[in-house]
Amino acid sequence: MTGYGTSLTTQNLKVYKALIDGKSCGASSGETLDMICPSTGFPFATIPRCSAADVGKAVSAAKAAMDAPEWVRLSAGERGARLLKLAELIDENKDKLAQLEARDTGKPLAQGYGDIEAAIQYFRFYGGAADKVMGDTLPIAVDYLALTVREPHGVIASIIPWNYPMQIFARVAGAALAMGNTLVVKPSEDACLSIIETAHLALEAGFPAGTINILTGLGEEAGAALSYNPEIDYITFTGSPDVGTMIQSAAARNHIGCTLELGGKSPQIVFEDADLSKALPIIQECLLKNGGQTCSAGSRALIHQSRWEEAIETLRTGFRSVVAGRFQDDRDLGPLINASQLRRVKAFCETAEQDGIPLIGEGTIAPDAPTEGYYTTAKVFGPVPADHQLAQEEVFGPVLSLIPFRTEEEAIRIANGTPYGLVAGIWTKDLSRATRVAKAMRSGQVFVNTYGAGGGIELPFGGVKKSGHGREKGFAALKEFSVLKTIVMNHA
Ligand code: NAD
Repeated sequence: MTGYGTSLTTQNLKVYKALIDGKSCGASSGETLDMICPSTGFPFATIPRCSAADVGKAVSAAKAAMDAPEWVRLSAGERGARLLKLAELIDENKDKLAQLEARDTGKPLAQGYGDIEAAIQYFRFYGGAADKVMGDTLPIAVDYLALTVREPHGVIASIIPWNYPMQIFARVAGAALAMGNTLVVKPSEDACLSIIETAHLALEAGFPAGTINILTGLGEEAGAALSYNPEIDYITFTGSPDVGTMIQSAAARNHIGCTLELGGKSPQIVFEDADLSKALPIIQECLLKNGGQTCSAGSRALIHQSRWEEAIETLRTGFRSVVAGRFQDDRDLGPLINASQLRRVKAFCETAEQDGIPLIGEGTIAPDAPTEGYYTTAKVFGPVPADHQLAQEEVFGPVLSLIPFRTEEEAIRIANGTPYGLVAGIWTKDLSRATRVAKAMRSGQVFVNTYGAGGGIELPFGGVKKSGHGREKGFAALKEFSVLKTIVMNHA
């Protein structure tokens, strides 16, 4: 990887550019934003601060690309071959991309590698799937042939958060391009560099200019202008529920569809017969992954009263062993993404302590972690009242809430008793109970005796209630990023 279109400023900050119509470019205003390394708290790169004028250019480029013969005349198999080539190029550049992702987001390096590996798998999956999407023939009447075909929406706007830039870009771009759409992507101002690099690799893989455009900048500027642009045909948004509400109203104004992947407060239910030696390490790991900044983090563990003491002793020991440190030191925990996220997480913990909720266990911060970095300790609290803020709201940090329960009915009521519904985990050896409870969960995914926060490229993913609507990942995304057309022919 060459560090496409980059140079250095006088302060030695690497200069990244937006990508519009296959060309690297700055914002039309010439303004830039600093990219801060969460591990140090200091800038290490700059990105263009794109505005509505740049959005207009990017959408026009994507619209023109949608009609260009070099894209329209590609067969599904040829689009798939380019996605497979892109997977190969990412694999060749894995080390640099993983370093960049970890530096940009603060996640421990091994998790940066995990994200790049997942991105490769997304592009392989959708590369292979591109020519396997089929319609139906419909037996309506004699002398008629009726069939359905799947067609691209057209220009898809994709707005991406900072927690998993590479993975979310790959899951959107893989499926959207497989179906023949073109893309205008607005990644997060907090972490977006791996997406810029990968979009350049996509050009190298043979995607024509304009099929993938990357607009860097602020949400309320570039993001808002993109969501309201009347030339886009569909929006997919991953981020917070508040911004999700704005995106949906922007989509409504243009009479287009949208997919919303929003937050979560996912429960892990540990029944009295659960294998705690298996359940608790997975519950801890899946909460702490990416510093708890995962929409599908199992941030509430519901523990049966009979296993409470055993569970809190194990989790106390587990959390005490967690050390937060710089991304390159690859400890259990990195820093949080930015100063405001750090303040938010600390405020949740302070309120919990003021409200008398016991802190069961807490990790440490490595002595060599830079003081300006956005570090916090891993914490486990309990018992947390099921209606307390800590058990209801998305903290998006390394904080686990433990909630005791006595009966299956009570567990179901608590598990479903938040505004969110993204993922649920069930730990029990009783197959009948596992089935009953899985069916009772109001969530987009349920895991039994395992948990897949963020994992499983093949698994349809998305929420209900305040967690959003629509599905990405797996074959479900190919339907989401296409429209069904019905054709009826009379051949009498
Ligand atoms: P955010 O909503 O603040 O930002 C997400 C994206 O939206 C960013 O690119 C941002 O620039 C843009 N944006 C902000 N304001 C905008 C506006 N007015 N118009 C258009 N775009 C705008 O979220 P975040 O803080 O980056 O991410 C954290 C949130 O994302 C959490 O709530 C988390 O649960 C959620 N999330 C959900 C999933 C999922 O798949 N369900 C995955 C990752 C993160």
